[in-house]
Amino acid sequence: MSMHSKAYIFRQQQLLVDEHFQLPQAARLQHDLYLSENGEIIARDLKEDELVPEGYQLVPIRLLVQVWSRVQFEQASRAVQLLEWRRNHRFCSQCGHSTQQHASQYAMVCSSCGYNQYPRVNPCVITIITRGTDEILLAKNARNKTQMYSLIAGFVEVGETLEYAVRRETLEEVGLHIKNIQYLSSQPWPFPSNLMMAFKAEYQEGEIQIQENELSDAQFFKFDQLPEIPFKGSIAYAMIQHVIHGTPVADDSKEWL
Ligand SMILES: [Zn+2]
Repeated sequence: MSMHSKAYIFRQQQLLVDEHFQLPQAARLQHDLYLSENGEIIARDLKEDELVPEGYQLVPIRLLVQVWSRVQFEQASRAVQLLEWRRNHRFCSQCGHSTQQHASQYAMVCSSCGYNQYPRVNPCVITIITRGTDEILLAKNARNKTQMYSLIAGFVEVGETLEYAVRRETLEEVGLHIKNIQYLSSQPWPFPSNLMMAFKAEYQEGEIQIQENELSDAQFFKFDQLPEIPFKGSIAYAMIQHVIHGTPVADDSKEWL
């Protein structure tokens, strides 16, 4: 039986792949994180002083979303998030003692007080707001130096429903009231560990009033006069295409390279 596994090997948010963006096969090591029960798929960190093997390159996973299928990107995003979680939970958050990885679960276990720390995702809502039949709201992030416009998005706060978070973010960021909030789809987004939940909604009332520390501009744009929008592979891109062309938000049709 071969002890070689399909390996997700990261240095921070960069993944080791060959020139065709394929993953390496690697011999299993003791501290590998198993992504499948039998260890056929593993993940590990490439240490700072470890060389990149010949024929391979480190590619930011942000770029892979554009060349990989959704399923492949989601597995890579699961790998990078689990490694990051393991790296960030080497000590017990309750008593400060060092932790051990649980033998069969994704849990970092404190050998002193028994507290278990599990991986967490941060829920985020992202909303596409339509006005009439041919306009969508797009906003420009104040920290973004490019001309790209995107959708209203933000973290769900403790105690909120998703719909409430959609309403609150919209009101805070652009001062608008919305109606007919509907769930569309979701996408794990490992920057660092978010779950993007996509909604659509209709403009109800109000004048655009941007939150100036967050946004530098927000406008309703006609479908045929859009500014620069987020890249293909992002859920924002898929949501915009969905509203304009009726294409599904979760598109699994892209083939593995
Ligand atoms: Zn403890």
